[in-house]
Parts: sequence; C-alpha cells; structure tokens
Amino acid sequence: MAHNRNTTLPNYRGRFAPSPTGPLHFGSLVAAVGSYLEARSRHGEWLVRIENLDPPREVVGAAEEILNVLEVLGMEWDGAVVYQSWRNEAYQDALATLEQQGLIYPCACSRKEVADSSIIGIDGPIYPGTCRGGLLARKSSTASRVLTHNHPIEFRDALRGLVRQQLTSATGDFVLRRADGIYAYQLAVVVDDAAQGITHIVRGADLLDSTPRQIYLQQLLGYPTPAYMHLPVMINAQGEKLSKQTQATAIDISKPVTQLIAAVRFLNQMPPAELVESSVASFWQWAMKNWQPEKIL
Ligand code: GLU
Repeated sequence: MAHNRNTTLPNYRGRFAPSPTGPLHFGSLVAAVGSYLEARSRHGEWLVRIENLDPPREVVGAAEEILNVLEVLGMEWDGAVVYQSWRNEAYQDALATLEQQGLIYPCACSRKEVADSSIIGIDGPIYPGTCRGGLLARKSSTASRVLTHNHPIEFRDALRGLVRQQLTSATGDFVLRRADGIYAYQLAVVVDDAAQGITHIVRGADLLDSTPRQIYLQQLLGYPTPAYMHLPVMINAQGEKLSKQTQATAIDISKPVTQLIAAVRFLNQMPPAELVESSVASFWQWAMKNWQPEKIL
C-alpha cells in the first residue's frame, strides 16, 4: 500500500484485539506475538484494544489479566488501551451513516427462524433476506442488518494471497446491531480500526472469513482498508480452534520465555535451543532480528 509521506499517519500501526472472555490462551498468544513482531520489526506501532462488546460473555478480571500477561511477556503497547465498552456512540454514529444511505433494515427473525429457513454458509446460516422488504409483524426490538451484494470482494492476504468472497452467497445480509442493542463485532472492529488509524491487521485465520465483511463496511463508511495477514490457528484433537469456548487452557507465565518460544515455533521460526535459558529481553532481541514472516505458511 502506498503511503503519503507528508501525512502524519505512521507507516505501520498494528494492533492486538483480544476479547476478555477468559485468560490468554496459546491461540491468542500466537496472534499477539505475530502482530507484535510484524509491527516492531518494521519499526511500527502496536496498539492493544480490549474487545468487550458483549457484557454477558465478559469474564470479570480477564482484561486486566490479559494485559498483565502481555507485560510479563515483555510486550509493550503504544498509547492507552481502548475498551470497546466505551465506544457505543461511535458505533451508533457509523450505523446512522449507513442508515442514511438506505443500507440498513430492521429484522425481527429469531435465530431459530433464520436457522430453519436457510442453508449453512461460511459462518452459520446464510440470512435469506426475509425482512429485506419490510417486517412481517411489528416487533418492539429488532436487529439491524446491512444490505449486501454479490460483487466479489477481494483482498490480498500477506500469507495466503488473493482471497475473494461474495457476501450475499456467503453470509447474506449480516447483523450490525443485535435486537438486544449490542453492536456486532463486524461493525465495532471496522469502526475502531479506522478510529485508531490501524494500517496492518495481523490475526488468526479463524477471522479470514470475516475480512470481506469488514472490507465491505470500510468501503461503505469511506474508511481505508488496512493490509491483512492471517496467521495459522491452533486446533485441538477434535479439529476445533483453540478458544475460550473450547476450554483452551491459560498459558503458564511462570516461564515466559518458554511460552514465547513455543509461539514463534508455531509460526515456523527457529529459535536456537539455548534461547530458552535467556531473559525475556534477549528473546525479543533475537526475535526482532530473526523474524521471517515468509516462513509462516
Ligand atoms: N476480538 C477478536 C478475538 O479475540 C479478534 C478481533 C480481531 O483481531 O479482529 O477473536
């Protein structure tokens, strides 16, 4: 991506955006380490944003614990940590902008109704557009969906090359605000990445399928599209992504260097065996000098 050197935008501003639904597990450590090394090895900034959009799913103390683990691991972020729970007004403004363009419609379908009347897409049932032409019945609380189209949305992932998706066939019109008033991850992440001036997004490949939806929203809202790199994700013996939902265990920070080495090894980097005896600072010195993202896949 070309950068205008006369603007104050940094050439590289990356981020790590964990959801505080539990302690940091190995899968999120890999995303943290990968995004940090990409940013720092390119003399970029690295920001942390706590994605606590959904209060019932938030675990008390998890955000502080994640930040504490990052500190123990020697990962220093730039600026103040942003919490999505403070940002509802910004999400509301973005939704209003889309509404003014006639791109949002209310939807009264229950989860079950959507599941019953649709086929499964890349991320659950494809919304068949039931409420596109207006609500069938008056409901007091409705979700807000964005109209999609089927022109392919394309981007070049730094590791995976060209990725292409047609939204209407892949997901259908997707929810930006749930009926309970909670803003959807897809909207919040786009608003926040733009507000924080993020130029490069490095995260797990479990989000690869979400990126076209996010690029679509960036286009509708007139935001720049960052560069993307989707890292491999850990899967367990059942073939599920390691996540808080699949009971991934918290990493053991009594041995921070061991954890950091495991994370860079997972990304196909080859730290020398003796590094395990070294300090966190020496680990990062080695990692910054020897980081080779082209080896990841
Ligand atoms: N909060 C998301 C997660 O923990 C990551 C969002 C992102 O990196 O875009 O899975």
